[in-house]
Amino acid sequence: MNEKTPNAQTQAAMTQAREMARNRMLKLVEPRDGVDSFPNFTKPARQRWESIPADIRQRLLSNVWCGKCRHETTITNFTGTLKGGDLLLVGQCAACQGDVARVIEGS
Ligand SMILES: [Zn+2]
Repeated sequence: MNEKTPNAQTQAAMTQAREMARNRMLKLVEPRDGVDSFPNFTKPARQRWESIPADIRQRLLSNVWCGKCRHETTITNFTGTLKGGDLLLVGQCAACQGDVARVIEGS
């Protein structure tokens, strides 16, 4: 049982290709300022992120609290990871470049 079946490899390649196509579509569908490049997400985090409607995603990114600015800000340069069922976004404040984070709780 130590040889990979071509089937599994093909499936992995197809999944990858499908994801790339989906990301490209997302970029075409929502060309928004401030979120110009699709962020660095782990695979499960990206799947969770993509399951959120685009308008809500935009809101989640644009009302992150910054402790330095002491008001809501937009998170930039963020990465996404899945922690215990919650989606964790960690990035920088658009105004002061300070560290900010947002947790999107799992349903
Ligand atoms: Zn700030």
